[in-house]
Amino acid sequence: MVLRRGIYKTPAQLRAMVEPGLITAAMLQAVRELATPGVTTGELDAAAARVVRERGARSNFQLVRGYRHTTCVSVNEQVVHGIPGSRVLEAGDIVSIDAGAEYEGWNGDSAITIVIADPSRPELVAAREELSRVTEQSMWAGIAAMATGTHIGEIGAAVEDHVVRAGHGYGILRDYVGHGIGRRMHESPSVFNYRTPDPGPRIQPGLVLAIEPMIVAGGEDTLVEDDDWTVSTVDGSDGSHWEHSVAVHDGGIWVLTAPDGGAAGLAPFGVRPREIG
Ligand code: MG
Ligand code: MG
Repeated sequence: MVLRRGIYKTPAQLRAMVEPGLITAAMLQAVRELATPGVTTGELDAAAARVVRERGARSNFQLVRGYRHTTCVSVNEQVVHGIPGSRVLEAGDIVSIDAGAEYEGWNGDSAITIVIADPSRPELVAAREELSRVTEQSMWAGIAAMATGTHIGEIGAAVEDHVVRAGHGYGILRDYVGHGIGRRMHESPSVFNYRTPDPGPRIQPGLVLAIEPMIVAGGEDTLVEDDDWTVSTVDGSDGSHWEHSVAVHDGGIWVLTAPDGGAAGLAPFGVRPREIG
């Protein structure tokens, strides 16, 4: 129990996490506006880097040992940790972008998936949009469980139930999980995207978690590519990754990496976020 005490932040610390969350959201918004056929993954990274610089923040991905980029950009069968570079985005690609900012010693972490329009392949685009939609909704289901639950194990159960109920037979990555976030981008506890026997730490004011389902259209086995970073599906099926950093405070929950605090995403679950007082 003693080990768990350190994971809860004070109200002042929660307030300090608002700005890095908003900077992270702005990074991803810049990427979203740029993601069109012909743009390289490196150009997406540069757009996020510009935002982080303009806002007086640092990329916390560059604080990860050995990593030089501002974002991770994962295309098609790549699920997470793709390295931005010279790869050119094509019509129909499904692209997951993960970004994070450190501002005045506090961190934000968020990811989105984009499907590049391709009028010539409507079935491919529809299948990839469905994968992204179910992944995003499973994230919101997990965030809603954080608002209403008593232990963080309920988050993973909600993510898993949502993915299973979608009925497509999608896989959930087991080896990669969400996490606490604060002074460091990755802190205790782990946040699983599936049901576990251990209920995990209590959900109570001061808890801040990055909730990040990584969902694949086929089998859940992954491999790390020769670049030692990129995580791809073994069977070549598509992947999607969505993530938000979420704070629990005395008045409820607030999604730090969503400009509206998560109001739109949580509305279907009957949860209303409350600003951190
Ligand atoms: Mg992330
Ligand atoms: Mg994360």
